Amino acid sequence: MNSNNKYKILLVEDETNIQTFVSALLEANDYQVVLAASCAEAEMLCASHLPDLVILDLGLPDRDGTVFLRRLRQKELTPVIVLSARSDENEKVHALDLGANDYITKPFGSAELLARIRSSLRTSRYSAAEGKLPGGSFRCGDMSIDYDARRIRIGEEEIKLTQTEYNIVVFLSAHCGKVMTYSAIIKAVWHEPTNENSIKKLQVNMANIRKKFGAKPGEISYIVNELGVGYRMDGE
Ligand code: CA
Repeated sequence: MNSNNKYKILLVEDETNIQTFVSALLEANDYQVVLAASCAEAEMLCASHLPDLVILDLGLPDRDGTVFLRRLRQKELTPVIVLSARSDENEKVHALDLGANDYITKPFGSAELLARIRSSLRTSRYSAAEGKLPGGSFRCGDMSIDYDARRIRIGEEEIKLTQTEYNIVVFLSAHCGKVMTYSAIIKAVWHEPTNENSIKKLQVNMANIRKKFGAKPGEISYIVNELGVGYRMDGE
């Protein structure tokens, strides 16, 4: 493949061993890599290289990675995968609410990182429609949504959802591949603040959706449960 046709990924990471490992992995998988080791460098390289995707470490030597994320989101929809050693759920939720598409916790495997990258690159196809419901139809594996008829099918079978369940699925489909936090979904579907009650209501609806979609416990079926954080429609 001509290097001009490769996806360009900006890797923002100050740990040399992770830089080396991730950039070798990306190059071996036909991505072009641009390296930055600080927030300031990331901002400069992002402006000059216009990457297709950013992999962002949160613990950077000059500033917190979220500073870069917040500034980027003021002007660009470039997908961002947060790379974090922190297992704290609040950190992930904060980064996702600031506009990160996904997160991956260190240590992580090559296959997992590559799957997240493919998923986030697909998400950017939907970004243009962000904030409004997409028209026409949507497909994710065997599942299809006909937005005009408000109908969801898996294979040939129509899945009967309540209005609320349907609204949740449509919201996730509009952000396919991206982790949507509890508060983002609750705000979009119920226009309510996030608290114990609204999270519980969301979880009950989501359990019903997964059941109707034929998901078995522990199995991934169109919608991935990101424990303690939110949900993601899996575009793969
Ligand atoms: Ca770091």
